Amino acid sequence: MSETARGKPAAFLDRDGTLMEDSGFVGDPRRVRVLDGVAPALIALADAGFARIVVTNQSGVARGFFGEPDVVIVNHALKDELAVRGAAVDAFYYCTHLQGCECRKPLPGLVLRAVAEHALDLRRSVMFGDRGGDIALAHNLGIPGILVNELPGYDGPPPLHRARSLREGVAFFLESVHA
Ligand SMILES: [Mg+2]
Ligand SMILES: [Zn+2]
Repeated sequence: MSETARGKPAAFLDRDGTLMEDSGFVGDPRRVRVLDGVAPALIALADAGFARIVVTNQSGVARGFFGEPDVVIVNHALKDELAVRGAAVDAFYYCTHLQGCECRKPLPGLVLRAVAEHALDLRRSVMFGDRGGDIALAHNLGIPGILVNELPGYDGPPPLHRARSLREGVAFFLESVHA
């Protein structure tokens, strides 16, 4: 535990609808569109000492829409698009399942793996996402959950904060919570 307590805090980030457009089961890298303000938000998190860890449900694999290699290819395309904008993330964790696993958000499996593999300090970490499952995951982990790019019909627990974009959500967190 003391090892973890000395680790970096992390910003856990949903992928589709948070970092890039959610056009529904994205298995084609040509459909990667980084959302406005994402690059400066990721840079601000890094400057504040946060690891940036993407945690994403990709049940398109279990549903047979695309293969696991396509998830990796899309992740790489996102990484490239971020690099063009001078930004980066530290790691991608994804769940390919639809049920019967321990990693599909809001289950904590992806985050717990990331915490172990990167020696992160979970207690000082934060989750950003656009869906109820992202905020439910934050609740399950006992960390702040910040809802960004909210869609009609939100079905999750109350987020700590609602922001119109990741950039605004990150600014709120760094100024009001982390400070
Ligand atoms: Mg999403
Ligand atoms: Zn899973």
